[in-house]
Amino acid sequence: MSQHLRSTLIAIAETEQQGFALKQQLRRFEKEIADVNELVAPVEMVFQNLQAEKTTLINQQQQMENELEEQRILIEKLEKHVPRIRNEKEFEASKKQLELSRKHRSMLEENLLEVAIKLEDLDPKMAEQKAELEKGKQEAEEALEQTILSQKQTILAIQELENYFQKSFESAPRPIQQFYKRCQKNGLHRPITPVVDKTCGGCNIRLQPQFVNEFLTEPDNYRNCPHCNRILYMPLSEEETAVDA
Ligand SMILES: [Zn+2]
Repeated sequence: MSQHLRSTLIAIAETEQQGFALKQQLRRFEKEIADVNELVAPVEMVFQNLQAEKTTLINQQQQMENELEEQRILIEKLEKHVPRIRNEKEFEASKKQLELSRKHRSMLEENLLEVAIKLEDLDPKMAEQKAELEKGKQEAEEALEQTILSQKQTILAIQELENYFQKSFESAPRPIQQFYKRCQKNGLHRPITPVVDKTCGGCNIRLQPQFVNEFLTEPDNYRNCPHCNRILYMPLSEEETAVDA
């Protein structure tokens, strides 16, 4: 076994831990962004409802205007035609039709006026809501400026860490790679873990003193935890760290 393997194991385990911490941090940023944006959501909803109302009114208006045009044409035609009718029955029927059309026309005109008033009322409400929405968005943007920046930096840091992890992982011997992948598949977290305070850093079960002593005599070797089977490595001692640096 070599010191190189030990450094590789340390690199794998530490980048994995750092990555885990960064991902947690990223989730906190995402939650903060979502929470702030959530504050604007009700205002946006009101604005969208007003917009939908306006669209509906405009459609109604268009439809009524078309109908009104039809009635106008019909009335004009009947007004010319009716006085010339000689047949009494036909005359009565056409006269009735003309009356109905005129009634329909005035109803449409009334309704159109109503819609126009509603539309007119809607405009200042929409402008007000839009201003409020823009103000809210602006405030959210300002409040989140730092968070969004940190979020971007964290994403970059995670990518960098992942690249570094990949490199370390690929330089590990195949059996270790396979062991790691198997553990991941079985949902065992931190398959490569340090001995921390004479305890397995993965399952936190205390290791036999003899096991630790033997381990310390050959710290560059790795061993499997007798309890959880994780790959254990001995963290660098202070002297080793000093030499390393
Ligand atoms: Zn263990």
